[in-house]
Amino acid sequence: MMRLDNKVAFVTGAASGIGKRIAEVYAQAGASVAVVDLNRQGAEAAAAALRAQGARAIGIGVDVTDEAGVDAAVARTVAQFGGLDVLISNAGIQIVAPLVEFSFADWKKLLAVHLDGAFLTARAAMRQMVPSQRGGSIIFMGSVHSKEASVLKAPYVTAKHGLEGLAKVIAKEGASHGVRANLICPGFVRTPLVDKQIPGQAKALGISEDEVIRKVMLKDTVDGEFTTVDDVAQLALLFAAFPTNALTGQSMVVSHGWFMQ
Ligand code: NAD
Repeated sequence: MMRLDNKVAFVTGAASGIGKRIAEVYAQAGASVAVVDLNRQGAEAAAAALRAQGARAIGIGVDVTDEAGVDAAVARTVAQFGGLDVLISNAGIQIVAPLVEFSFADWKKLLAVHLDGAFLTARAAMRQMVPSQRGGSIIFMGSVHSKEASVLKAPYVTAKHGLEGLAKVIAKEGASHGVRANLICPGFVRTPLVDKQIPGQAKALGISEDEVIRKVMLKDTVDGEFTTVDDVAQLALLFAAFPTNALTGQSMVVSHGWFMQ
């Protein structure tokens, strides 16, 4: 197993789903973990569960679109654990609707969580990683929707494509400081984020919820299976533990073959 001993990781959206599993896998690999989420109680509970297993973890409640809050959360992590080596910018939301019905407020809200959140967390992380001279790994949670489009998801597809550009810029700006940046692009993973969108898609497309799963979400996979939170966490471990700048500016798709690049 790849190890993250003596590394400090800051994982956003870590009270639930993919982020929660990444925090667990990182803690098992030896990292100290800041479990960060808008849901403060959930973050604190997840961190307490990691500590109960012998890991070093703190839970922090913060909205990733809050500039001062993000800076303070990173500062608290550094004060607690002595540095920062890995950022998982993962917090996300989903809102599904046809473009012509999308409210401007919902468009801005979704872009803010995914793009402002990625910028603010990456900037705060780099402001620690660069002067510390210990390098680092910045990992954004993209999606197959960083590569492909789907109906009803205009801001989500726009934001996820944007994260690929941000990762490439940071790969270039971070290179001389040993800071790498990469993008993970999962297919559908059965988390609350996905469960919540199934009824809306069924209504908008005029099909059953079972058909949304089989004919929309998993239609183009090679085997009709969901990707799991653990599949994504194992890839996050690879990106975090990889030792050199050889693996930077990349996006990797983990989707049961839904998208092949
Ligand atoms: P989830 O709903 O289970 O977890 C998302 C977490 O992000 C929640 O705990 C939520 O409280 C937190 N969050 C939301 N807004 C926040 C904010 N402003 N500040 C801080 N935290 C906030 O969802 P998930 O499926 O685990 O999704 C995690 C990431 O993975 C998202 O970026 C999502 O777009 C991406 N993703 C998910 C799938 C999937 O199928 N589930 C596929 C591809 C990509």
